[in-house]
Amino acid sequence: MRRCVCPGSFDPVTYGHLDVVERASGLYDEVVVAVLFNVSKKGLFDVDERMEILRDVTEHLGNVRIQSFEGLLVDFASQNDIPVVIRGLRAVTDFDYELSMAQMNHRLTGLETFFVATNPEYSYLSSSLVKEVASHGGDVSGLVPKVVLERLRERFGSESSAGA
Ligand code: ADP
Repeated sequence: MRRCVCPGSFDPVTYGHLDVVERASGLYDEVVVAVLFNVSKKGLFDVDERMEILRDVTEHLGNVRIQSFEGLLVDFASQNDIPVVIRGLRAVTDFDYELSMAQMNHRLTGLETFFVATNPEYSYLSSSLVKEVASHGGDVSGLVPKVVLERLRERFGSESSAGA
């Protein structure tokens, strides 16, 4: 079985993430979306909630599994028999960090990283920007799934639009 992992924080998942997961889903037999559990970094949504949302928005794909992990991605990948990481590249600003991480992971266990060029429609989009805009009542509809809009509205009040 050809399996890959899409790792990240997904706090919260955006249409940019979903685009990468959907494309990976068409290329691999199974896609594991791995949510990083970081004790020292409390997110807006806790890891269980992020996983619940991810399950909801990837349900239509059929070959996507949602898991969480702690520690090194290479260890998670080895334990789950996954040889390839898929990461989205938004712009050159992502490149330095992504390249060094990919090279380190390859050095550690031989884990390969394949990069997907982000859909230009979402190349400026990040979870942190979505949170920033939503926290001030800006409209993030069209950038995140409806279930995320609803949960942002719960967190920040009725100003963040849940229209799309
Ligand atoms: P991390 O904290 O590891 O960067 P993220 O949840 O921000 O986790 O991102 C996880 C993955 O999704 C990364 O490969 C990242 O490049 C990709 N990604 C994030 N935002 C977008 C986007 N707008 N379009 C495509 N890929 C994205």
